[in-house]
Amino acid sequence: MPLKSVWTPATIAAAAPVSDHVRLIEIAPYGGPHRYGPGAHIDVAVMIAERPETRSYTLVGPARPGAPYRIAVKMLEDSRGGSRYMHALKEGANVMVSQPKNDFELDFSAPRYLLVAGGIGITPIYSMALALAEKGADFRLLYAGHSLSDMPFAAELREKLGSRVELFVSDQGRRIDIAGEIEKLDSSTQLYLCGPVPMLDAARAAWHRLGKPAGNLRYETFGASGHFAPQAFKVKIPRLDLELDVPANQSVLEVLEKAGVDVISDCRRGECGTCIVDIVSATGTVDHRDMFFSDAEHAENKKMCICVSRVVDGDLVLDTSYRAD
Ligand SMILES: Cc1cc2nc3c(=O)[nH]c(=O)nc-3n(C[C@H](O)[C@H](O)[C@H](O)COP(=O)(O)OP(=O)(O)OC[C@H]3O[C@@H](n4cnc5c(N)ncnc54)[C@H](O)[C@@H]3O)c2cc1C
Repeated sequence: MPLKSVWTPATIAAAAPVSDHVRLIEIAPYGGPHRYGPGAHIDVAVMIAERPETRSYTLVGPARPGAPYRIAVKMLEDSRGGSRYMHALKEGANVMVSQPKNDFELDFSAPRYLLVAGGIGITPIYSMALALAEKGADFRLLYAGHSLSDMPFAAELREKLGSRVELFVSDQGRRIDIAGEIEKLDSSTQLYLCGPVPMLDAARAAWHRLGKPAGNLRYETFGASGHFAPQAFKVKIPRLDLELDVPANQSVLEVLEKAGVDVISDCRRGECGTCIVDIVSATGTVDHRDMFFSDAEHAENKKMCICVSRVVDGDLVLDTSYRAD
């Protein structure tokens, strides 16, 4: 069960670019920061299309007593707008932030570690690598990105960690062979991974195929980034005689809400399963972006979490639990 947010007013203490699309933001909460460990994040209250929402951002450590929280936010142009809001915040602006929460804790007791980061997924992995280095732990860090100029902290990590860090820059033709890397691990090594869904899928498949202990694969994804770039599509609900357009930057849930359809939802990031609806039929490919259903349930394509999941190259026919009477 996710920890409930306790909100505190805070001020933007500093903000500056740290790569082509990533901005490092320092946030000073009133009353001082809480303690936190590697992998922790805070929630930030944002306004999207004049509506209050929240977005989560990993704390980029190491935590220093009394120092502001540090987060690194990647600008996502095709998104609903949380990252744009964060990039527009000026020094001195007021924001509301939650206490630090940690769903991706680092277990310091393993004999060896493999850390894998894809893109902005470096944020928790960065803190983990520095913490493990400080403890003299045995680890390697594999960091993948599209271009070196958009890989925050790459130079700093190289400088601090030397050959323990390997960079995989796809525009230089280098990609991580996740399955090959997992094959080399002994069964007591813990793998910590944060990156896009296809990277996680590849790791989970190899981990399972090689019969590694399930508890030694630990990961976090940043929510709704699916297997495909979002596209516009149509959604039909025959029982309500509705046909609606879902733009690339809105979810099915948002479009149904705007049309006055009574759907229930909670987390709005594909974790709680509150907004599930039945899929009557789908053309194209359903891009299941939730963390709620199993792989087998995704493959059945009978239900979807409409806060995050969508369709590509096709349209959807859905049935909601809504009854007009
Ligand atoms: C625990 C945690 C830690 C995080 N840490 C970081 C961090 O350190 N740095 C960071 O930059 N981000 C982090 N995130 C992600 C962050 O919370 C936001 O999701 C991110 O800033 C994008 O917000 P947005 O509103 O701009 O995009 P969103 O609209 O939330 O989009 C997120 C993704 O969904 C896709 N998308 C866009 N529109 C839709 C739609 N209508 N339906 C479905 N999908 C859509 C986008 O292509 C994008 O890939 C973290 C998330 C979590 C849960």
